[in-house]
Amino acid sequence: MSSHHVRQRYWARALIGFSAMREAQTSGAHRALAALESQGYIQQLVTQNVDRLHQRAGSRRVIDLHGRADMVKCMVCDYQMMRHAMHAEMARMNPSFAGLEAGHAPDGDADLETDFSTFRIFDCPRCRGILKPDVVFYGDVVPAERRLAAQVALAESEAVLAVGTSLMVFSGYRFCRTAHERGLPLASLSLGVTRADALLSYQWRAPLTPVLEEAVRCLQFS
Ligand SMILES: [Zn+2]
Repeated sequence: MSSHHVRQRYWARALIGFSAMREAQTSGAHRALAALESQGYIQQLVTQNVDRLHQRAGSRRVIDLHGRADMVKCMVCDYQMMRHAMHAEMARMNPSFAGLEAGHAPDGDADLETDFSTFRIFDCPRCRGILKPDVVFYGDVVPAERRLAAQVALAESEAVLAVGTSLMVFSGYRFCRTAHERGLPLASLSLGVTRADALLSYQWRAPLTPVLEEAVRCLQFS
């Protein structure tokens, strides 16, 4: 996000594609995890997703380890604002772009190829610094406060369940390794292999939603 040209292209495409991402729907797995929390079986949910769908499904105790795609943050002064507010500013500043229609690429950005050199980017209203999505990009470090919050929750946990992740990203694998070192039961529910396979106490290679929904049914009467 350092080159102005790259940022122009990013924000122009995002301006058109963001509405598609905001309309992403929760799955049965999201809702089942929220139900397990309300039943008292989940004390802390730690997610690498940045889409806020766990919260939308009803989960309350969530640590967004990799940040939130619906917020932006100043790289200089840490000022934060909602991403849709930044989009609204840029739509106002770039009326010719805001009117464009485009198909939607799988990454949530618009599938649009055009000349972005005239696109005007909205900068930090406090210091004029660069605003960027408040998410951990590949190669970035997870902010210490979130990592510590997850470690505190892990220290108070009786068991760890990894859901729908290959654990290939170290920020998630790290917690499984710590759980294993502390002798906690460690389980995985996912379709494929995980980086933590050798550490697991239980492993279910199965689709998430039916298994989690069945867990909600079984546990609600226990
Ligand atoms: Zn700033």
